[in-house]
Amino acid sequence: MKIKLSEILDSGLHLVTSREPNWLHNIPELFTEGEDVRITSELSFDLWISKGTGYVTVDGELLYSVLFPCSRCLSPVELKISPRVHLVLSPEVNIGVDVDCKTGTDYEAYSGEQIDLGDYMREVIVRDLPLKVLCAEQCRGLCPECGANLNETQCGCGSDWVDPRFEALKSLKV
Ligand SMILES: [Zn+2]
Ligand SMILES: [Zn+2]
Repeated sequence: MKIKLSEILDSGLHLVTSREPNWLHNIPELFTEGEDVRITSELSFDLWISKGTGYVTVDGELLYSVLFPCSRCLSPVELKISPRVHLVLSPEVNIGVDVDCKTGTDYEAYSGEQIDLGDYMREVIVRDLPLKVLCAEQCRGLCPECGANLNETQCGCGSDWVDPRFEALKSLKV
């Protein structure tokens, strides 16, 4: 995703583009059929790029769908994700991504007469994957004993199931 500085006019550059999931070549798991966590749509980018004296700013939004297993019952859940980006690029000052947590601004370097947003955008996509996904707030999860999906069935072994760690405590004579 390379942009020549000369393409950025004084009024800015509105970049609307998309990529196939396999554009994420650094994380092939995300577009491999059969993986638990997988991108299921195109990656869409809607970005405003402006140039100042000695810096370039990129503001905008990404949009794509990802399939996740529910953290409790493991059923697949499809989520639309739209991370916002606010990036300031400066010429070769410091290499790598730096995040200002207070303002949510990222900083990167560029060299020469063009910027390349590819690696940065791939990083944003990994960074914004949710850690915990539930198919429903009240998901009942899997029975810890027989593995049945408790949203779909009442296996019956749940009622007298005792965590083995507590079972050990119960046998202690007080
Ligand atoms: Zn669930
Ligand atoms: Zn059970």
